[in-house]
Amino acid sequence: MKKGIHPEMYDCTVTCACGNTFQTKSTKKEINVEICSQCHPFYTGQQSRATRAGRVDKFNKKYGFDKKDNA
Ligand SMILES: [Zn+2]
Repeated sequence: MKKGIHPEMYDCTVTCACGNTFQTKSTKKEINVEICSQCHPFYTGQQSRATRAGRVDKFNKKYGFDKKDNA
């Protein structure tokens, strides 16, 4: 590796607003995040599915797809 091109990588401690911390590699030694894999709806699942279902429901009602005779 040529010197000066690659930034130095540190063992980085990521601290989330939910209180979760985890280690990663970064050019910074500490990172603060507001959301992480422990509290993000995408990973926690339930909330994500509920939101998606709600949106589909709204879409179906808007265009009348929830009515069987209209399908
Ligand atoms: Zn979190």
